[in-house]
Formats: sequence, C-alpha cells, structure tokens
Amino acid sequence: MSKATTNLDMSPEAMRRLGHKATDILVDRAGRLADGNAWDGEFRDSMEEKFLKPPPEQGRPAEEVLEHVVRDILPYAARLDHPRFFGFVPSSPTWPGIVADYVSAGYHINSCTWLVSSGTSQLELVVTDWMRTWVGYPETAGGLLTSGGSAASVEAIVTAREAAGNPERPTVYMSDQSHSALKRAAHIAGVRRDRVRIVPTDEAFRLDPGELARMVAADRAEGLQPVAVCANAGSVSTGSIDPLQAMADFCRDEGIWLHVDAAYGGFAMVTEIGRDILGGIERADSIGLDAHKWFFQPYEAGALMVKDVRHLENAFAIGHDVLQDTVWGANHPNFSDRGMQLSRTARALKIWMSVQTFGMAAFRAAVENGLDLARRAEAYVTDSPILELTAPVSMGILCFRVNPADRCLNDQALEAINRKVLANVFWDELAFFSSTSLKDVFSLRMCIVNHTTTWEDVRQTLDTVSRFGAETAAKG
Ligand SMILES: *Cc1c(COP(=O)(O)O)cnc(C)c1O
Repeated sequence: MSKATTNLDMSPEAMRRLGHKATDILVDRAGRLADGNAWDGEFRDSMEEKFLKPPPEQGRPAEEVLEHVVRDILPYAARLDHPRFFGFVPSSPTWPGIVADYVSAGYHINSCTWLVSSGTSQLELVVTDWMRTWVGYPETAGGLLTSGGSAASVEAIVTAREAAGNPERPTVYMSDQSHSALKRAAHIAGVRRDRVRIVPTDEAFRLDPGELARMVAADRAEGLQPVAVCANAGSVSTGSIDPLQAMADFCRDEGIWLHVDAAYGGFAMVTEIGRDILGGIERADSIGLDAHKWFFQPYEAGALMVKDVRHLENAFAIGHDVLQDTVWGANHPNFSDRGMQLSRTARALKIWMSVQTFGMAAFRAAVENGLDLARRAEAYVTDSPILELTAPVSMGILCFRVNPADRCLNDQALEAINRKVLANVFWDELAFFSSTSLKDVFSLRMCIVNHTTTWEDVRQTLDTVSRFGAETAAKG
C-alpha cells in the first residue's frame, strides 16, 4: 500500500538530512559553548525588522530555515547551560535528556492517559516513585511531572484547598523569601491577594514560626480559613531552608496543609548532605521539585509529589464523555486526572533515559559538585579583603557584595558600587550573574548548580568581581 503524500510530507532522505544537520549543530554548539559568552540578547526593533513578516505562501528548503534560526534567533538568549552562567537558577541538560524530548516528539506521544500512552505512563510512575524515595515519602505518595515549579505550585495549592473542603474565606502563608510563583498560585487557586500572608524571616532568611503561629491565630479569630502553609527548601534568593520540622509540627497541630517549594533545592535530596539539611521535608503534605534545575534536564521538567496521592486525584479527576474509553481500570492512572493538563509531553522519558545512561552515582556527584563549589566560593569571599557575604551560603547559592574592609561605606554607597560592578561583569562577558535584594540590601548572587562548572570558572568570576570591585571603590 503506498503512502498518501500531502504537501506537508517530506521524503525519508530530506527527513534524515534535516535531523542530522540539527544534531551536528547541537553537538558543535556544546563543544564550543565554554569559549563564547554566557549571554547574548537583542533589542526588539532589530529583531522585528528581520522577522515581523506575514507567513510565506510558498515554503523554502528546510535546511535553509534551520540555518536561519540558528544564525538569527537562537543565539540571542541567555546560555543557561554555559559553565559561567550563574544568574537566576541555571542548569545544563544532559544529551540523553535532550534526545528523549526529540524522540518522544517523533513518536508523537501524548502522555495524558494509560490508553493513549501506557509506556510513558508507566515511566512516569517509575520516575515519580524514584522521587518519592528521594524525598523520603511513604508508599501512599504519588505525583506527576509538570511544566515546572509554577504549575506544581498551582496544583499543590488547589489540592490543599480541596483537602480543606474548599472553604469560603481561604488564606495561605509563605515567607518574604518565597517565590512569586507561589503567590500567583494562591491567586489562581482563589485566594484573595490580601489573604496571602507574608511571614517575616530571621537573619538567615528562614521563616519565623512564631510569627506564622501569630498570623494563623489572628486569621482564625477573624473567621478566615487557613488552607496552606508554604515552606522553602532552597529559597530562590539565598537558598535558605525554612524550619521544616517546626513548621510540620505546627501544621499537624493546626490541621493545615504543608507544601514545600523545593523547585530549586529538592534534588539535593539525592546526596547525603542534602538529606541532612532538608530533614523534615518528608513530613510535608506536598513537595514541588524542578528536574530542569538541579537534575540536569531540558525544560520543561517539574514535579509535584503528594504524600497521599488520593488528594491529588480528588482535586483534579473529572470525568468526560469523550474520554470514557480511557478508564483502563484500577491501578492504571491517567496522569491527566492529577493536574491541569490533558495533552501533555512524556516528561518522564528524559529523566529516565538520562538516569539509565549515567547512573545515580553520576547524578549524585554532579549535585555534590554544585554544593562543593558553593562552599569553596564562600571561603573565597570570607578570605577576601574586599568582598563580604550578604547571606549564609546555602545549597548552591552565594550572596555577596563588594565592601572593602578598609573603607566605611554605607549601604547606599555600597549599592552604587555593586551595581557598577554587576554592569562591568556583564559587559566584560566572561560570566553572567544576577543580583537580588536581601531585606533591602543590594546583593550580588551566584547560583552554582551546573555540572559542567569547574572551580576555575567560579574562581575566575570571583577574581573579576574583585578586580572591578577594587577599581570601582577606588574611584567612587
Ligand atoms: C524556579 C523556581 C520556581 C518556579 O519554577 P518554574 O519551573 O520556573 O515554573 C518556584 N520556586 C522556586 C524556589 C524556584 O527556584
């Protein structure tokens, strides 16, 4: 039987040529990445001039289109996988993870239900079960893979709200260090903006449990209904870890859902140090994790784990006539019943393929590399006469600033100097990092979680900051 051809088909030769070309481009890029800049970008005007055009009526050769993209679009981006990209939360995906995304797109997998894709549904059970053991959850736990930490936060707070019986006047609690994604998640879940309570933190940026208790009591006295407390297990500014045991005690006594945002820090749990510093995380009702951060996967690879997975299905499973055939039966979960998405990519495949390829020992070593480099960077700053820490180093995050020990500069003067240093580092193009504001103190920040980053990369970057710092302070 001959295959019908339409104008959207390609010959096998043309398919191969395009695929091979893409592979060559990616492998070449990976080989040269460390030699180039960690960041590039372009203003909208100049981009628009090239691209703001109606869709062409006639096509052109696929390889030419690919070349166009590789020349004029993809380079204008942060190279989040560059060994000296330390801004925000970077990551470097493994090649098997990248190939997994390509292959599952090629198989056109829709990991919505068991009937539509039992193979990748089974893998999602496997991978979420690995995560269950990493975070120390019991057999009752389960979860799903999400687009990222933001989606996991929404699904967590909706689940908490439903577990609380979807009360009329819900409140949610989080620290002043919590990610904006959690605030947005609370709003989406129907919590009014003025009922998202921001709990102050101590000098190490950890939520103050006494303040939390006071706020919850005050809200209950007003007739409000607390549905969730959110804890940080690696806050995004400083990597701080909230007092998980105390918060778990409090939430147990009060009957409030405890959600832990471990989007960035959660995969530290594969190491011994991580299990030590995150002790108590296993007592949370739910945990959000991002494999596209410290587990070296391409975007999008988030996860939500729920200690009693039934809560997740209670919140999200809704029958639909057109899907009536997809109920395979007991113990054959439809992942679309656990979250917001029906059609969804096979995110488990990339995690599974990379772990199968390299083994957990390699992943553990890669996470430890980040922890270790952050500790060495901390020692560098502590020993430096012109740098100082602005927060205790926690996990892979270093917050610091230029503050020459022989000068007595106030915060305002220091902010001006450090902003200049940040700009100088940016234009110098050796490395990219970003800043944060720590209780109104302007702070430089490096997040060191890339498995390809070496001490040489970190040291060179800190040397550069020191040099610019000394120059700027001498002038100003
Ligand atoms: C990255 C991050 C988020 C948001 O996750 P996305 O995957 O970007 O949606 C939330 N919380 C923390 C602590 C994070 O690091």
